[in-house]
Amino acid sequence: MTTPTLKSPNTVLANAVDDAVDVLRPRIGDSDIESIDFSVGTQINGQPHVGTHLVQSLAFLLAERARDEFGVDTSVDFCALDNSPAETVRAENRRYQRAFAHSLSADEITALVARHYLPLFDACRTRTNVPYTVSTYTQQQDTPAFRAEFLRTLELLEEVGTWLSPNSGSAHIRLPCPVCGWAEKYADRTRLVELDEAGGLFEAHCFEHGHYEADITPLGGGYLDLATLYRNVVKERSYRPDDRTLHVMVKGGDWAFGCQLVDGAHAALGLPVGPLPVRIFTPQILGSDGGKLSKSLLREAAELGLTQDENTPAWVLDPSAWPGTQEDYVDALTGLGELVLSDPKHFFRSYTTTALETLMSTRQPAPHNSQAKRPRTMPIYRQYFDLIAKGEKTVEVRVGYESMKRIKAGDLINFTCRESNCLTRVTRVGRYRTFTEMFGTERVEAVNPHATEIEQLEAIRAIFPPHKEALGVLTFEIERVDHA
Ligand SMILES: [Zn+2]
Repeated sequence: MTTPTLKSPNTVLANAVDDAVDVLRPRIGDSDIESIDFSVGTQINGQPHVGTHLVQSLAFLLAERARDEFGVDTSVDFCALDNSPAETVRAENRRYQRAFAHSLSADEITALVARHYLPLFDACRTRTNVPYTVSTYTQQQDTPAFRAEFLRTLELLEEVGTWLSPNSGSAHIRLPCPVCGWAEKYADRTRLVELDEAGGLFEAHCFEHGHYEADITPLGGGYLDLATLYRNVVKERSYRPDDRTLHVMVKGGDWAFGCQLVDGAHAALGLPVGPLPVRIFTPQILGSDGGKLSKSLLREAAELGLTQDENTPAWVLDPSAWPGTQEDYVDALTGLGELVLSDPKHFFRSYTTTALETLMSTRQPAPHNSQAKRPRTMPIYRQYFDLIAKGEKTVEVRVGYESMKRIKAGDLINFTCRESNCLTRVTRVGRYRTFTEMFGTERVEAVNPHATEIEQLEAIRAIFPPHKEALGVLTFEIERVDHA
């Protein structure tokens, strides 16, 4: 497999991380994390473009990498943001909007998500063996944890509002009319009239049905439609402390700007009940002028007869126009994902649509139906990487995670460390109950020729604590595969 050459400049993260998933490491090391969940949310307004697909496929590739790097189970949680506006109208000198959740039936939302997102998710799950779940914003706002956390923010509504809407000073809390589902876009006539332990009582106004009340409690009281920044603050604070899952928000790079305000709101609110999630910002896809790829902007330009983005191929905006099969498209997309993940300098940056096209279309398609022949990527520390590359280390040790247990003799493993990679073939798989038992059979020098058995046991147990060793120990005897 050849990959196009890619050069990326240094960034502020250059000397701090060797791998994009290193940004999770501080939270893995100091706690009893048993699994990592990667959350990715997408507004469901129409056919997604390639930038959206890239964020989503990167969530799977990050989960795969984190699983192999940290030896914990990982998953992807997709939240379909069905509170994005489906219709807008001007009435009484104000803008009103109605969300997809109120314009479409629950079945129609399910069908829309299945059509636009699940084909890619299923393909990514097959490739990475990372499971995923799908939920909607409607379900999220209905959970007691989310609503309770929202109610807590009301105690400091002014301080929070300053951060979430620095322009107006008040955060938008849209409480759609219970009869028609329309809500004031800026919620400027929505007022909190009473707040006690039971909940918050609001007054609001509908252009059609006049004055109405919403009594928001942890268990109900109406639909709670929070503007984007507010929703993120509440979601990030709604994880519980007994949760042994590390939650990771996977977000498009433009969120790096918005999180300043989210973090200000967090600071204003004080420490949450549970730990805050970690965020990973994925590369942005930019149009020719450096602005974020935007369907609506390009559509406007086309309507005005402007052709400044004539170099943008149609499939960038409409992936169904990809010149090849859906499988080719997913190959190219995940190939790009693996390429940008091969070095944090490639990951923490943006790409123009022109660069994207080059990187996605010059990549040689992986042979189809060859899951077993596709080398699996295994990030490894430099000292061990060098030993494998020199042929001095011929046995690699891991613990019995499902993904590791699937590796068998004949499979290819591509060990990676920053920009270097070393392709190997598994010649034998060993299974043991403990590391001590392993060294009863495996040669100490094959695992590491420069350390004694006692030193190696110490190093291995530092990486895999007892509860991981309890999963069982796996060894892979490997030989280098020279590129033809
Ligand atoms: Zn109404």
